[in-house]
Amino acid sequence: MSITEIQSKSILRKQKKIETWFVSRYGMNLYRGCTHNCAYCDGRTEKYRVDGEFGKDVAVKVNAIDVLKRELDPRRKRKPMQKGFIFVGGGVCDSYQPVELKYELTRQALELMALHNFPVHMLTKSTHIERDLDVLHQINEKSRAIISMSFSSVDDKISRHFEPGVPGPSQRLKTLAKFKKEGFPIGMYLMPVLPFITDTHDKVQETVSAAANMGIDFIIFGGMTLKGGRQHDYLMNVLRDYDRNLAPKYEQIFTGDQWGRARMDYYDSVHRVFFEIVKEYKIPIRIPPAIWTNFVDSTDRVIIILEHIDYLLKMDNKKSSFGYAAYSISQLKEPVEHSRQKIEEMKGIGATTARLIREILDTGTSQYYEWLLS
Ligand code: SF4
Repeated sequence: MSITEIQSKSILRKQKKIETWFVSRYGMNLYRGCTHNCAYCDGRTEKYRVDGEFGKDVAVKVNAIDVLKRELDPRRKRKPMQKGFIFVGGGVCDSYQPVELKYELTRQALELMALHNFPVHMLTKSTHIERDLDVLHQINEKSRAIISMSFSSVDDKISRHFEPGVPGPSQRLKTLAKFKKEGFPIGMYLMPVLPFITDTHDKVQETVSAAANMGIDFIIFGGMTLKGGRQHDYLMNVLRDYDRNLAPKYEQIFTGDQWGRARMDYYDSVHRVFFEIVKEYKIPIRIPPAIWTNFVDSTDRVIIILEHIDYLLKMDNKKSSFGYAAYSISQLKEPVEHSRQKIEEMKGIGATTARLIREILDTGTSQYYEWLLS
């Protein structure tokens, strides 16, 4: 493993619109590269331009905390920062990969967020997050800290093969249980499920059941993407070591889409499996509003609810135009309340959706949404 120390001009990344999978307004990466070295990691693709050998080399943004101090300081802002969660995780690195134990950038970033009362959403595969229980407590008491972990299954043996650098899922579940006991909202990102390995009915059932047993607050599901080049070549080698019959099957579902997407009929079938199972356990498949509603502004609240409704309807095989309505609202330059009287005039918004939006503005939620989510 080699570590390179680099300087970064900016750390906080403002999203163009609220990210409704994570309910976040901002994101950040304190490292580039990830020595957890999951075989399927998207961070390995050429488009992210991570230097060195992905999985072995990592760059550390050593000035990150000074930059972040400036970025979070309200006295240095002409416009106040937007209300919303800061998402720490995902992208091309895990914030609790081993190098964090030496540099402690994640911990120091969290201390700044605690100081400025920002809610955070953490997503990691590492149990090292337990080290920061104290500062996460401070955040959760003053605003909110959501603790999420990602899984491809809860099978330790499969994980050892495909996720060699992280503690097995049984350890991760224990960490989540600990945070739950401490009063944090906890989530599982069941993504990506590995085609023909962890996407089967039995494996998904095993995973959802384990999550339900430890009181998970939500599960977000997603299938794999596989882009040509480094990501594809690396995974195929690891896959052949696991079971040489699987590589041709992967080639059949990943047909060279520029975004690395599999065939839609594959995604439809695994989503269907997940949806049928998760319904039995009555676990929300989007982050429930009780967790985030007080920490986003009214326009973002409307966008989140519309996008969540869109997803829930589509998962249930129903048509929906709520996603388009969410997009229209996200294009507004001013808070949605200012357009309250002319919501129907917006593209893609009819009388029923307009009524639902006004209900969200008046009550903070929608009965239809709450019913779908439950
Ligand atoms: S932990 Fe996440 S970022 Fe790191 S290698 Fe695995 S999938 Fe990639």
